Amino acid sequence: MNDYLMDTYARLPVSLVRGDGAWIYDEQGKRYLDTVTGIGVCGLGHAHPEIAEAMAEQARTLVHAGNVARMPLQERLAERLCRITGMERAFFCNSGAEANECALKIARRVGHEHDVESPEVVVAEGSFHGRTLAMLSASGSRKVQAGFEPLVQGFVRVPYGDAAALESVARHSPSVVAVMLEPIQGEGGVVSPPEGYLRKVREICDANGWLLILDEVQTGLCKTGRWYACQHDDVLPDVLTTAKALGNGLPIGACLARGEAATVLKPGKHGSTFGGNPLACRTALMVLDIMERDRLYERAQSVGESLLGRLRERLAGNDRVVAVRGRGLMLGIELDAPAGELKHAALKRGVLLNVTREKVIRLLPPLTIAEDELDLLVDVLGEILDAFREAA
Ligand code: PLP
Repeated sequence: MNDYLMDTYARLPVSLVRGDGAWIYDEQGKRYLDTVTGIGVCGLGHAHPEIAEAMAEQARTLVHAGNVARMPLQERLAERLCRITGMERAFFCNSGAEANECALKIARRVGHEHDVESPEVVVAEGSFHGRTLAMLSASGSRKVQAGFEPLVQGFVRVPYGDAAALESVARHSPSVVAVMLEPIQGEGGVVSPPEGYLRKVREICDANGWLLILDEVQTGLCKTGRWYACQHDDVLPDVLTTAKALGNGLPIGACLARGEAATVLKPGKHGSTFGGNPLACRTALMVLDIMERDRLYERAQSVGESLLGRLRERLAGNDRVVAVRGRGLMLGIELDAPAGELKHAALKRGVLLNVTREKVIRLLPPLTIAEDELDLLVDVLGEILDAFREAA
């Protein structure tokens, strides 16, 4: 712990100073296989040479000018993201929470345009949408809300994956204007909804004139085996939020929208000093170029399937493992008891691990992770989970 930093994170007892591909190094030069990637951010691995070069060149050209004039790189990135997602317009910001704030403001503005006095947004139990006051209020976790009351109003909560609950809301809540969901809940423990759920939600939204807002902050950018997870189900949302891996570590987020949702915010209604600056946009364009050139959505799909199969095989018979699940390279291993200590056990064996919802090891390795690195990961996970079982 450091006296000059607010005590907001339970940090591992190691100082990380350098990265290279799937590896991250501490001050003593010890290296760790990074399955956390800054919580799903460095999808292309650390210190990617082409990204570093694009950043450096842009830093020598123009880093920032504010949104006071046209920004060609921002326009290019907006077009690119719209083509990838089927959306029509983008608003750029600096984080996932900010992208979701923009989505919520859009939903409320659309509601007011339709004379809904107090527009409400349906959100799911177990969800996580960020730490701003509105987003922690939207999130379905008391842990992130407790102590910050009064919460922001205007959310209706339903169980995740339960389409009937949504239909019931449609019958009883006339002020609802939108549904906001993660296609797979990340912080919630890598939880996928039942097959067909997203399509059903789309139908319910259409039938009721609601916007469908998909929070793809964690699931986006090839991680699940498609550019965006909703593409597995051919579901087109009205608003899609993205951040995390978009800048491979440089802060950038975007709220993408189509139809009325894309045009409802007018000058003076929303903004961000840093949002979409040339450095962030140039970096994100390079990230997208590399993902497309190297077809990393396909790689995430095939490598993810193989990793999932190998983990299931290695962990079969370990009765403390409740489930091994996920899609692409967004995987979770649920255990039968809190497993925070496993982060330390893995660290000793040279692997950086993340645990969410106390009992779920969440794997978000770089999309570029190599075969021998996967071998090491399966071995280390197998060993530390053998020890976890023996300790019971
Ligand atoms: N939405 C989802 C689904 C997330 O997983 C996260 C972060 O983990 C956020 C939003 C918040 O993103 P940020 O921390 O960039 O504000």
